[in-house]
Amino acid sequence: MTLPAEADLVVVGAGTIGGWAAHFAAADGTARVVVVERGLVGQGASSRAAGMVRAQAGTAVATALGRWSIDFYAGQSAGLGTDSGFRPLGYLLLATRARDVREGRARAAVQRELGLDVRWLDPEEASRAVPLLAPSGHRGGTYHAGDGCIDPVRNVRAYTLAMARTGVRVLERTELVGLRTEAGDAGSRVTGVTTPRGTIATQRVLLTGGPQLAELGRRCGQRIPVGGVRHQVAVTAPHPAFAEGPQTMVYDLARGLYWREEEGGLLFGMSNPQEAPGPATAVDWRYLDRMRRRLAGWVPVTRGLELRKVWAATIDYTADHLPILGPGLDDRGRPVAGLTIAAPGGHGMMWGPAVARAGADLALRGHTDVVDVGDLGLDRFDPRRRRPVAGEPIALPFPVMVEESA
Ligand SMILES: Cc1cc2nc3c(=O)[nH]c(=O)nc-3n(C[C@H](O)[C@H](O)[C@H](O)COP(=O)(O)OP(=O)(O)OC[C@H]3O[C@@H](n4cnc5c(N)ncnc54)[C@H](O)[C@@H]3O)c2cc1C
Repeated sequence: MTLPAEADLVVVGAGTIGGWAAHFAAADGTARVVVVERGLVGQGASSRAAGMVRAQAGTAVATALGRWSIDFYAGQSAGLGTDSGFRPLGYLLLATRARDVREGRARAAVQRELGLDVRWLDPEEASRAVPLLAPSGHRGGTYHAGDGCIDPVRNVRAYTLAMARTGVRVLERTELVGLRTEAGDAGSRVTGVTTPRGTIATQRVLLTGGPQLAELGRRCGQRIPVGGVRHQVAVTAPHPAFAEGPQTMVYDLARGLYWREEEGGLLFGMSNPQEAPGPATAVDWRYLDRMRRRLAGWVPVTRGLELRKVWAATIDYTADHLPILGPGLDDRGRPVAGLTIAAPGGHGMMWGPAVARAGADLALRGHTDVVDVGDLGLDRFDPRRRRPVAGEPIALPFPVMVEESA
């Protein structure tokens, strides 16, 4: 595809955030929406995810993002004629420590006030909800029937079709190498993007990039503290026990191990909190053994089951586990007019559609109704800021320090 000379919006990155945001912008009537993707559509974290989706969360903003996204997934086929394979399987967040019980009960109460039907299950109720769960060793947990999973590969297909239907131009193998800006009295404003194939003139750029967003930001004069780190997922061979009706998904809060049914086997994933930040280049087989042992402790039927698939990929994360949604900033902390950042903070399946919708809104109109983005901007990482933002407590145990890994 030839490089257009001009665009009304350039979206950088064709993962789930860039893909859905480009579609939303074009569906709103924005005429020339162009996506520049350095590889192929969906080739980043978005096609490699586990697809766990929940509205259960520990902050109001995360709950709102999850709910918006679940509603979107649930209504996709009616609105778009395509879907991301959402299945509302129900999700149990399993408590093993006294503090999990205390915090879980408090979370459930707050979430019920927010209108989300989250219930506390005592150990017997939890065992009834998940018959394959080992009966001892846990203290119950919070449960939300509306949580579920998507099929990440089908999601890539869905946003690809959606972009095609709304006339988005997708330029694969086209890398953003820099941003063109113009200085003014009140700060700078975007005038275009540069690629090895030439320049596209535009007044609006939406930067996504998943685990590579920090590097992408540097090319645009932005310091974006998004990290990238290895995360591993595996799927066991099928077992008749998993075929007995829909299986509730489970998240082991203490270790960050999660699992769900996948094609008659069990998909499970876990992050190693000791992992050094940086791109994943291989499977850590020793750590995978630990994951399997932990899983077999909770789901004894998996002990000795063959693995059908194993993969390691780089997952994005932010220090407070919340998304970044807001304008790019110049070196004096002033917004760069026309530059918007959208990062899902490692939760691009569960919050992706909402983050994409909000990112498109901010890029086009400067405000959004999806969620209050007041605390989600890049400025929250500014040490001079007086009011700290409470992070999202339900998250994988990522390395504490976010490094701007390439
Ligand atoms: C193994 C694994 C399991 C996961 N499981 C879950 C889960 O169960 N639930 C959940 O909510 N989240 C999960 N995630 C996280 C989720 O996948 C990510 O948060 C989400 O996919 C990020 O979407 P994105 O569009 O921001 O990034 P990406 O999908 O990585 O897309 C960014 C795109 O930007 C492109 N790009 C980068 N630099 C440039 C450049 N200079 N020029 C042009 N293009 C560029 C990249 O090539 C890439 O295609 C998982 C992630 C991994 C790796």
